[in-house]
Formats: sequence, structure tokens, C-alpha cells
Amino acid sequence: MSAAIDTPFGLFIGGQEVPASDGQKVTLLNPATNKPLAVTSVGGVDDARHALEVAERAFRESSWAGGDGSQRTKALFRLARLLEEQAAAFAELETLNMGKPLRESKGDIDFVVRTLEYMAGLADKIEGETIPIPGARFDYTVREPLGVTVHIAPWNYPLLLAVRSMAPALAAGNAVVLKPASLTPLTALRFARLAHDAGVPDGILNVVVGNGREVGEALISDGRCGSVSFTGSSDVGRRIAELAAPRLIPTILELGGKSPVIVFPDADLERAARAIATGIFQNSGQMCWAGSRLVVEAGVEAPLLEKLKAVAQGLKLGAGVEAGVTMGPLVSKDQMDRVLGFVSEAREGGARIFLGGGRPTAPELQAGNFVEPTVVTDVDPEARMVREEIFGPVLAVHRFEAAEEALRLANRTRYGLFASIWTRDLATAHGVARQLEAGMVTVNEPPMTFPQTPFGGYKESGVGFEQGRDAPLVYTRRKNVIVNLGTGKPKK
Ligand code: NAD
Repeated sequence: MSAAIDTPFGLFIGGQEVPASDGQKVTLLNPATNKPLAVTSVGGVDDARHALEVAERAFRESSWAGGDGSQRTKALFRLARLLEEQAAAFAELETLNMGKPLRESKGDIDFVVRTLEYMAGLADKIEGETIPIPGARFDYTVREPLGVTVHIAPWNYPLLLAVRSMAPALAAGNAVVLKPASLTPLTALRFARLAHDAGVPDGILNVVVGNGREVGEALISDGRCGSVSFTGSSDVGRRIAELAAPRLIPTILELGGKSPVIVFPDADLERAARAIATGIFQNSGQMCWAGSRLVVEAGVEAPLLEKLKAVAQGLKLGAGVEAGVTMGPLVSKDQMDRVLGFVSEAREGGARIFLGGGRPTAPELQAGNFVEPTVVTDVDPEARMVREEIFGPVLAVHRFEAAEEALRLANRTRYGLFASIWTRDLATAHGVARQLEAGMVTVNEPPMTFPQTPFGGYKESGVGFEQGRDAPLVYTRRKNVIVNLGTGKPKK
């Protein structure tokens, strides 16, 4: 693929690419070079409304919502196969648009394939139940799709998070409208075309690129929007909840994090160091569940940090498409400046920059949005870099003496997305896991998830969950039906 993509991208509505109604377009940049990458249409309120109208009609008129679900199972499996066949091209496009190393994009696309397969397998197993009740009566429940569901995605895992949200809604028989992040819409637009090729009926999967405040709000506020699933920052999440409140529509919020990694003195420090590096430097730290706070027992702090430094110094920064690169640029210059701002503030506040702390000096990295892997020690627990999500490759280190202190430090945050524990002691592992205020915990593992396991946060990290067996049910309504089987007065 050449540095720039010649064919412009349109919106995807009603089974075809269409220009924005007012013809608006934007040029997206390659974050490794800040040179133009591709041109895409940018929709407005009219396009949002048009997509909802098309989706609503497709929901009513196509066979997607009805039947036994086998049409949806087949189409989603076909979609998984098509994506698998084109995985290399999708991964390259993701890397060019978002910046992450190709190896990571390949992993993301593989996760999308597995998510589609998993949800395809559930599409024909959305069942009701019969419930014994008094008298000559028969009671049963049915699960009905919501209608049109709206999905709003962020830029850090562009296709993965869009599909994680849309696939269960599609499996349950809904028509979906996706608004991808304005910076990274390219793979979602290609994916919509693939869904069409896989036999998803026209109008069932629509993608409207556009500004969050304009297009996102228009989609959610419209009477045709049956639910909203939002993945993004907690501040915008609160706004989404406000917009959904007047019509009381189901709302799933997958929000930010400030996740702790607790290392006890009996941990395998070698493995822990590698996992900590993965948890904060993968995707250049642009992860909702980044392990951004290390909570380490005082006696092992120095050896652990030395090992972490060795791992970090082995990372190769560069454009994600280049062979051997293990850490890419941040998604935009704004994001890079924001991350560096946090580090400067910590430095001025008396924290010690143990590693990194700035932009790399290599001449070939000056044009892109690169930030060094950074580790900051001796941080005030009240500092902004400890309280707020940085969304960059910056780790804050706290030390503790006793386990209770570790738990107090770990839980001392308004977020509760993820936490990890490093110990060889089973009682410590399970005991601490129970007391952590987080929706997901790993023991002796980096951040880890599968399409089979629920993904969601406690506290200000979110409401509801995605993934797992129950995910399609979230996109259904349960109707209870009571049938009187007698002709006279029912017996008690
Ligand atoms: P963001 O909140 O700025 O934007 C997310 C999406 O919301 C974008 O598509 C944006 O255009 C749209 N949006 C913005 N304002 C809107 C509004 N008023 N109404 C409707 N839509 C609006 O987040 P971001 O910067 O794209 O992504 C980073 C954030 O996402 C981080 O906080 C990260 O933790 C979070 N995140 C959470 C998860 C999770 O699963 N919990 C996963 C990935 C990212």
C-alpha cells in the first residue's frame, strides 16, 4: 500500500458508499509522519437522520430480525471468513490510520474475527423460557430485538471496539448505525462493505463518520435510536447518559480507566516486568485498561524497575508498518502534546522521571507523534497524573509496605476498569482479587480478554458490559406472555 490512499472513502448507508449530504470531506493524516493518508466524507445531522431512517426501514422490511436467527448466524460467519481472508489488508489500513505496530493490528483483526464467530454462534440461540404459574395458564417469554441500535466508538482500537459493540446487536437481529471516531474511520468503512458482501441486508449496518457533538448527539437524541453503546472517555460518557435519559433508552458505557498493577514481593519479577511493559507501552499506552499505576512492594521496587527498564529499552519505536517496530506513534499531535503535558507537570511537582519522559531524539522520528516509554517514580498520590487518565506510555509508580496499603492505593481512584495482581500465593491472589474495585482482574497476566469473557468497568469506568454469552441479550427486550388455557374462571 502506498503512503497515501488514492480512493476517497464515503459514508456507508443503505448498503452503499455515499457522499455526505453537504459534500464535506476531511483529509486524515498518517500519525507516523503527519502526512496526508486518505480523504473521507464527513457527515452532519442530516446524514445521521438519514442513516437512522434507512436502518429503521431495513429493520422493519428485511428478514434480518425474524426467523430462527440462522440467517444472521450464516451472514456473521461469512463476514468472519471474508475478514480473515483480508486480514492483512485490514491490519495495514488500521496501522496507517491509527499508528500502532502491524503486529498489534493483526492481533486486533484476529480478535474481531473471533468476536464475529462467537456472536454468529449465539445468533440462533436467543431463546425465551416457559415459567410455571398458578392455574390453567401457560407462561412464556420471548426476546425481541430493540430495533435500531447506535454505537459510538473511540480511536484506540478502531475496528475492534466498533465490532465488539455492533456484533452482539446484529446477532440479536437489530439494525445498527455506527459512528466511528473522526480520526480513525477507515477500517470500519471497509468493514461495512464486507458486511454487505457477506449478505448482511442493505441498511442493517450503516456507518456515519462525523463530529461527536454533532452527529453523535443527533443519533442518540433521535426517537428512532433504540439503544446507545458508547466506548470512550468518562466525561463524554456522562453526556451520552444525559442524552439517553429523556427517552430512557438502554445505555452501555465503556469508559476510561486508571488501572493498578500490584506486585507482591513473592512475584516472578521477570514475567511481571514484561507484563507491566505490555500493559502500559502496547498501543503506546492508548488503552482504556492500561496498567498505568504500578503499586509495588518497597523491597522489590528497585529490581523490578531495573527489569522494566531493560524491557522498555528493547522496544523499537517507529512507523507501525515498518518491520521490527514494537511501539508506534500516538494517534495525533494533540494527543502527544497532552501526554507530554502530564509528564512536565509531574516533573515540576517533584516526581522523578526514572525512564523516558520526552520525545525520542532519532531524526526519523521527529515528524511523527512519538513519545518515549516513560516511568515516573516518587509521585504524589494526589498528582493529576495519578488521578487522571493520560492515555499514553506513562507509568506512575507507588510503593507499599503492607498488603492493606496496596489495596488502598489500588482502589484510590474514581475508575474501576481493570487491575492485575502479581504473586505466587493463592490466598493473596484470590483475597486481593475479591477486594479490588474493578470489573476485570488478572492474576499473573497482562491485561487480557476474550470474546467469551465479559468486558466492563466499575465506578466511573462504565455501566453494563460487552462480550460474553449474554452480550446479545442486552440488545433485546423480554416480553412475558400469559395465556389462559381454560374457558371459564381460571383455578387458583
Ligand atoms: P472520546 O470520548 O473523546 O470519543 C469517543 C467517541 O465519542 C468518538 O467517536 C467521538 O467522536 C464521540 N463523541 C465525542 N463527543 C460526543 C458527544 N457529545 N456525543 C456523542 N458522541 C461523542 O474518546 P476517545 O478520545 O476517542 O477515546 C479514548 C477514551 O476512550 C479513553 O477515555 C479510553 O479509556 C476510552 N476507552 C474505553 C474503553 C472501554 O472498553 N472501557 C475502550 C477503549 C477506549
